[in-house]
This record gives sequence, structure tokens and C-alpha cells, in this order.
Amino acid sequence: MLDDKDRIFTNLYGFQDWGLKGAKGRGDWDDTKALMALGQDAIIDIVKASGLRGRGGAGFPTGMKWSFMPKEPKPGKPNFLVINADESEPGSCKDREIIRHDPHKLIEGALLAGFAMRARAGYIYIRGEFIREAETLFAAVQQAYDAGLLGKNAAGSGYDFDLFVHRGAGAYICGEETAMLNSLEGKKGLPRLKPPFPAGAGLYGCPTTVNNVESIAVVPTILRRGAPWFKSFGREKNEGTKLFQISGHVNKPCVVEESMSIPFRELIDRHAGGIRGGWDNLLAVIPGGSSVPLVPAEQIMDCPMDFDALRDLQSGLGTAAIIVMDKSTDVVRAIARLSYFYKHESCGQCTPCREGTGWMWRVMERLREGNAEMHEIDMLWDVTKQVEGHTICALGDAAAWPIQGLIRHYRPELERRIAERQAGALEAAE
Ligand code: SF4
Repeated sequence: MLDDKDRIFTNLYGFQDWGLKGAKGRGDWDDTKALMALGQDAIIDIVKASGLRGRGGAGFPTGMKWSFMPKEPKPGKPNFLVINADESEPGSCKDREIIRHDPHKLIEGALLAGFAMRARAGYIYIRGEFIREAETLFAAVQQAYDAGLLGKNAAGSGYDFDLFVHRGAGAYICGEETAMLNSLEGKKGLPRLKPPFPAGAGLYGCPTTVNNVESIAVVPTILRRGAPWFKSFGREKNEGTKLFQISGHVNKPCVVEESMSIPFRELIDRHAGGIRGGWDNLLAVIPGGSSVPLVPAEQIMDCPMDFDALRDLQSGLGTAAIIVMDKSTDVVRAIARLSYFYKHESCGQCTPCREGTGWMWRVMERLREGNAEMHEIDMLWDVTKQVEGHTICALGDAAAWPIQGLIRHYRPELERRIAERQAGALEAAE
């Protein structure tokens, strides 16, 4: 279990002042100038050595991502940092806690990350529905400017860095990094084809790195306490501390910072008060936000909660948004509801996603009632495979994976519903 002394987010629950005074009391902005004096490449090396993997879902090594940025920006092509605070994945609710209770960790992290990547400007793209969070963030950024921590000679370092907060308008797809860049440019939030990747041609065609809020907010503490300290938590290649968001059928849903790789059972018992109705009542878990496949109870109970262990279970850590479902859950209905969500949020640019998400949702609705033929289960599986990996962005995968998880683990339940309905129809006809 993570000791209190090792927690990065010491005001996660908002018991203390979120403002600059409170943040300084918790150690934020403590001689930031000295951290910057380490040098740009040294900061990137420390982040690399810490083992930090992106906290937005993909788990790409953060330091390596930073190292893709040009070391000497060309004239007229400045480097940009964009921070993804769109947090729209169902189940995810960690970035909003950082923003409303510990915004200065994010702002100081933005300065350090921007400096390391030779960016002179950073943008925080915050989800449109986060109204109170945006108010806090605007106020915190203003506090930082007023105290000379941002802008010209930021934090007395001699480096100029500006930070802008940009509010989204409520589209899930704007959480996709290239759609976010389009949206920031004032265009429709449509994902771009890659390559070129943002590090080559991102915001306004300039080199850009897009990072998640949590990935940036942990950086100042990593620099202060050192890469070996951060690396000492979790397992190899899955190091550090992590914000877990536990929702659904647990006794005490919560957001909690814990050591990476903590076993699922320990995480739930220690922080979420156990499963509603006891462990025998657990049906399945969606471990990383709604886009990752569910995992049945018996497989996840003792699983370390990290990127690699969950990948081995054909699921994923994603944003560590853990949705717990007990045996009262209609699992087919739950996945059908997610299918509706992805159909609704498809931007419509590519045919497999535009047509496939609607088709999959309609079949899922029929399967929910058993109003289908047995062979349609295989047909649905085939369609998910035709959507997966054949689209511009990962929304196609996100729509396909929950259905694949359902068929992989709960096919007998789908067959039971079909057989029962068919038997009922036969009986009525007789
Ligand atoms: Fe749009 Fe879907 Fe294609 Fe992504 S996969 S670009 S959301 S149509």
C-alpha cells in the first residue's frame, strides 16, 4: 500500500486550499528555477529514467515522447505543448480532481514540460462540461501569472513560457489528440490521419506534444524526489504511482492514488470498501474506462492493476477507470449501452466507424432481448474485427473492444437469450 508520505496528490480530496498559497504549503513551486537549471535534456532524461508511461490511456513512455520534439525549433515553427484535459471516457474522473483541487501541480508541470521540450506556449484543452473546474483553472493560471511563475522570465528562470486554457464544447472525440489540435485551431474536431504525427506537424502545423493532465502533473514531484523514487513503485515497465477511479458496485466509490500494479482485490478492499454484497457477488470489471474489454471476476481478482498484466488478460489499464459490475448487472444491456455511446460520438469521417458503430449497436440491442439468430453472434464478432484497426482514430477500436470482450466471455449468455426467445415464440405459435 502506498504510504501517505509517497503520495503526489496530497490535496486530491480538496480538504485544503487549492490556491497558490495552499499549493506552496504542499511543496509546489518550491524553487522551480533550480529544477529548470538542471537543463532541458536532463529533465527529459529524468522523466525517461522514472519509467513514467502516459496516463491518458495508451501508456506510451512520456520521456521518450518528449524526446521526439525538435531540439532546435526552426524559425516560424515553434514547439507547442498541449495538455489533454478533455477526460470524456465513461468511468474516468481523475483529471477533474487534479484540476479542481491541485491545479498548481499541473501548471508547474506544464512549465517544466514546456521548458524541457523547448515550447514557448502550452495549451490546456479542458472538457466543456467541466465548468467549475475551468473556473478554478483559469483562476490558478492567473495566480501563477500574478506571482511571476508564468509569462516572461517564468519563475525567475530566464525562460519565457505562456499557458492558455481553452474550453472544449462537449465532444468526446476532441479527446483524441489530433481532433483536439483541430479544435484548438478553431476547426471541427475531426481526427487527422497519421502520419504526420503531432511531433512532426501538430498545432498550426508545428511540432507538438499532447500529454494527459496526470502525466504532466506528476513531473514536478518526480524531478524533486528523483527518478529512482518514482520507479520504486509498481513492477518493471509499469512503474510509479497512479490515480485509480473506482466506480460501480463497490461500497465506497472513490478516486485514489496508489502504487501501480496493486492487486485488484487489495485495491478494492482497502479503498472502495469491498464489492457490494461480497466478493462472491462480483460479476465482471471494466478495468480502464469503457473502451477496454471487460474481464470476468475470476480472472481479475488477483490481477496486478497495470498496463502489462491487463494486456495479458486481453484488456487494458487505459485511464485506470475501474467500473465494477456485480451479479445484478445485465451485462449485455451494459455493453449495448456503451455501443450506443460510441455510435453517438463517432465523428463520421470513416465508413467502418460511421456505419459500423450504428450497425453494432442495433445488433447489440436485439441481442439484449434475444431477438436474433445464433449465427449473428459470429457475424457481430466479424464486424468488430472489420472495424478494429481500420479507421483513422481509435474510436473504432473503442467501439469494437467492449463487444469483443462480451462475446469472448459471455457468449453462453447471448445464446441463452436467443434460445429462450425462440422457445417462447415456438410455444406461442403452438
Ligand atoms: Fe471519426 Fe470514427 Fe473515424 Fe475516429 S474512427 S475518425 S471517430 S469516424
